Amino acid sequence: MKAVLFEQFGQPPRVQNVPDPTPSAEGVVIKVEATGLCRSDWHGWMGHDPDVVLPHVPGHELAGTVLATGKQVTRWKKGDRVTVPFVGGCGRCFECNSGNHQVCEHQFQPGFTAWGSFAEYVAVDYADTNLVALPESLDFETAASLGCRFVTSFRAIVDQGRVGPGDWVAVHGCGGVGLSAIMIAAAMGANVVAIDLTPEKLDFARQMGAVATINAREVADVVEAVREITRGGAHVSIDALGHPTTCFNSIANLRRRGRHVQVGLMLGEHSRPPVPMDRIIGWELEILGSHGMQAFRYQAMMAMIETGKLSPRKLVGKRIGLEEAPAALMAMDRFEGLGISVITRF
Ligand SMILES: [Zn+2]
Ligand SMILES: [Zn+2]
Repeated sequence: MKAVLFEQFGQPPRVQNVPDPTPSAEGVVIKVEATGLCRSDWHGWMGHDPDVVLPHVPGHELAGTVLATGKQVTRWKKGDRVTVPFVGGCGRCFECNSGNHQVCEHQFQPGFTAWGSFAEYVAVDYADTNLVALPESLDFETAASLGCRFVTSFRAIVDQGRVGPGDWVAVHGCGGVGLSAIMIAAAMGANVVAIDLTPEKLDFARQMGAVATINAREVADVVEAVREITRGGAHVSIDALGHPTTCFNSIANLRRRGRHVQVGLMLGEHSRPPVPMDRIIGWELEILGSHGMQAFRYQAMMAMIETGKLSPRKLVGKRIGLEEAPAALMAMDRFEGLGISVITRF
């Protein structure tokens, strides 16, 4: 099969011919129909993720059809249209048994713990626990955009942030994660303030449901600007970018007993950012993470997509071919373009 492969961290990946994958006993092989490009792939390529072993094929936001199933797989068959969360739980450990597959002790991550979906085919483990059937109404490219940023944002807003109607929600960074978070928070009835550095992304954020926007280049103090708009601070705030500055601002712009959810990855030199711990104690702030979402929670999200309350299709930006993926991957840290880029030609 054709796959995007890199042999050294930080060296240009190339489209190469590699052996077709075979399913493990509990796994499946999926014919990839669409796969999203994400900054996590860039981190993996740069060598920031200890799970990545060379040579490597990135890609973790995928949708496709089941091509082959392992001996122990009972719930899926050839031809099924599916997607998977980027963290697949083993289904047996303490965390999985408590319903928290997203922090499984033996998690499978396509494109990180194994070769991923920047390829014609991808092998996925623990299929019975993690595969999600796609409704007929959901096309592959929209489904591919769900697997990482959209589900992580859904969990961040709904399950971790516990956003309610009328809450003020601040979203720092209007890339794929941030735009997803804005759409989901608005659907939950919250008032969303979006923060970014470019007017185009802030315009897009308004289209996704933000009621106010802040251009961080144009205000003296982002935290004060959020406080003023929200009359005292956000109830819930999301760092959707993953940078020491946005992380700090997202915590500092909360009102008393507010909740910060870190969604943007902080790896490498940014893995230990300074936080206003004095404020966290004095105001009883909550600091939460969001790391994917369990396959069983897709049901609620899919229901909101099918009824039109959420429309992830609006977040799909560029559609590209596999040959264009190496250059697009290397450019992921430059934050160019609007929405989510998806590989749709293999
Ligand atoms: Zn597990
Ligand atoms: Zn991702």
